[in-house]
Amino acid sequence: MTAVWFAALALLLAGPGPALLARARWTWQVPRAALVLWQAIALGAVLATLGAGLASLSLLFTEEPGFPFLERHGPVQTTLIGLTSTFVAVVTVRFWVVATLVGIRTRRRRNRHRDMVDLLHRKESTSEVDAALLAETGVRVLTGPGRVAYCVPGVHSRVVVSDAMLASLTPEEVRAVLAHERAHLRARHDLVLEGFTALHAAFPRVVSSQAALDSVRLLVEMLADDSARRRAGSLPLARALVALAGQPDCTSGEGAEMPVGSAALARVRRLAARPARRGLSLATYVAAVLVLGGPTLAVAVPWLQASYRALVR
Ligand SMILES: [Zn+2]
Repeated sequence: MTAVWFAALALLLAGPGPALLARARWTWQVPRAALVLWQAIALGAVLATLGAGLASLSLLFTEEPGFPFLERHGPVQTTLIGLTSTFVAVVTVRFWVVATLVGIRTRRRRNRHRDMVDLLHRKESTSEVDAALLAETGVRVLTGPGRVAYCVPGVHSRVVVSDAMLASLTPEEVRAVLAHERAHLRARHDLVLEGFTALHAAFPRVVSSQAALDSVRLLVEMLADDSARRRAGSLPLARALVALAGQPDCTSGEGAEMPVGSAALARVRRLAARPARRGLSLATYVAAVLVLGGPTLAVAVPWLQASYRALVR
């Protein structure tokens, strides 16, 4: 029955766990630890699913010769093992196919986008701020009426800003925006989101429902905000967030925008709030270790012991 326990664990980590965490607001105080917890839940669900498949397969190899499988386990258990094996095979194949397609499409789209901004960007500076910006590697200034500030992640990354954005923000606010975008690029937040995007594309109703994906996106933004406020200060960053609310950001996915009324407001409010106590961060990391390690080990250790006994018998 180990396979069934693994499958139950996978369903628990894929359903109620993410649903609860997506609704939580305390995670905003500790975005880094909360992202680790999200990753622990997602990885735990994947490992439990693979564990269910391996446990089902191990039954086939530990059978005694000449002893019919159906007689040994009975029809109910045999049906459960068959269903679990099929479920795990479908889930595994679907995830890897979708993850590969998401990875290929994302890189193609980014390469096209980078080529486009490299072609269209303005080379001549019009002010001191402009000249300093244009001298920085990877920064591209586009002309146009839209107030744009985003990044194109990857090995050859770009930070893209527009004339209108530079004209509407003070130099301190521009510095805060650039620090935010560089934090995304430096920490490769795009890779964190790519994993959750692939999970969401493969299983839109479970571990990465839309609410879960939005929650992870917001935490990534808050993490970049924390880095930017250490470099440029909270006030310039908050002013820039208000000015640019609703504009696309590099980590938000294809054509997605940060909503003006909810996410941007939450980000501005937390910039004015007191920093989180270390205890909350530590408790969240401990929860991540327990989520990933505790249930998995509780199921895996007895199964490994049983498999070892069967092999040395
Ligand atoms: Zn951002």
